[in-house]
Amino acid sequence: MAIINENYLKLKTGYLFPEIGRRVNEFIKNNPDKKVIKMGIGDVTRPLAPSIVKAFHEGVEEMSKIDTFKGYGPEQGYAFLRETIAKNSYRDRGVDISADDIFISDGSKCDTGNIQEIFGNENKIAICDPVYPVYADTTVMAGKTGICNADGYYNGIIYMPCTKENGFIPELPSEVPDLIFLCYPNNPTGTVATKEELKKWVDYALKNKSIILFDAAYEAFIQDEKIPHSIYEIEGAKQVAIEFRSFSKTAGFTGTRCAFVVIPQELSAYDFAGNVHPVKPLWNRRHTTKFNGVSYPVQKAAAAVFSEEGKKEIAETIAYYMGNARIMKSSLASAGYEVFGGENAPYIWIKTMDNLKSWCFFDKLLIDANVVGTPGSGFGSSGEGYFRFSAFADRENVIEAMERIKNLK
Ligand SMILES: *Cc1c(COP(=O)(O)O)cnc(C)c1O
Repeated sequence: MAIINENYLKLKTGYLFPEIGRRVNEFIKNNPDKKVIKMGIGDVTRPLAPSIVKAFHEGVEEMSKIDTFKGYGPEQGYAFLRETIAKNSYRDRGVDISADDIFISDGSKCDTGNIQEIFGNENKIAICDPVYPVYADTTVMAGKTGICNADGYYNGIIYMPCTKENGFIPELPSEVPDLIFLCYPNNPTGTVATKEELKKWVDYALKNKSIILFDAAYEAFIQDEKIPHSIYEIEGAKQVAIEFRSFSKTAGFTGTRCAFVVIPQELSAYDFAGNVHPVKPLWNRRHTTKFNGVSYPVQKAAAAVFSEEGKKEIAETIAYYMGNARIMKSSLASAGYEVFGGENAPYIWIKTMDNLKSWCFFDKLLIDANVVGTPGSGFGSSGEGYFRFSAFADRENVIEAMERIKNLK
């Protein structure tokens, strides 16, 4: 008799985006004449930049010739890409990360989920509430939690509420976690963590022998020079933090797939007897056993992100999205909403009007303004009464959507 992994039975059904899709499709079916503007899902809308496409094509060309054809590459990624990441993303910002500590992958979603595997199920995990749903769901799948309660919280996870009262930066938990997921700039709140905030977490992890799992998927959107792009800008972080980065939002790779994990040589964890073990060899073992590398043309394309042309083109695309964010922020504020984020991240997070529940606000916006956003409660119970708009959209649509929201009764 085949037995399933019963942890999957604990997962809440009705995942956020399918439910949004269901409601939107039903509305469109009943109102075929209405033009619905979608500002819900966090997917990019601008195409790959020309220099990236050129490198992508060159990679494909090389695969077509006997002299330059490539079969399996190194599982950890080609040295040319790891070196250029170490230089451009870290050394040029004064952070000493070795190319050898970088593992290329096909996405941060997989990486943040897969990382669970090298840590025992006895670990207590702390997760921000609200946040990107992948951290909690993969913690459940791994068997690190109990059942889901009526309030939407899983037994065994330490939830860290992020609300306007604490500026969307959680307090240090009183029950000490072993693994701590942090995501800054944040999805969904669009808020950022200062050096001082991150130092507080690094010191806490050092003191408690915990590990921080730092998701920096949106670092490229940071505009304020004082905000750190990497957790390794904080002293001591190499001993306690794993960093996740992705080309998805940075360079429009959501459909192309390339990301990386940084696990510094200095990072250690413990066995039950209290012996110290470096973490990097464990991830190397997992990665080389279960992954056969990102395709060569994609890695060529990713490396082009760091070329002079590539950097310029990407900065233009990010400026376009951040221009949307500016328009959205000021329009929503002048329409009377309390608005957060949107200055160093492509997400705008608002408090709903009259304390409407997130899904009620979603329906009102869809029916009365024909605009789609994302209910805050879908990212965690503390997101109830909040709503997310994504700046990944066409300018024209952003302007029209904001007009419609301003005219809402
Ligand atoms: C979009 C996103 C990612 C990127 O995931 P990929 O699998 O690399 O496309 C990672 N973390 C967060 C919080 C995100 O919103």
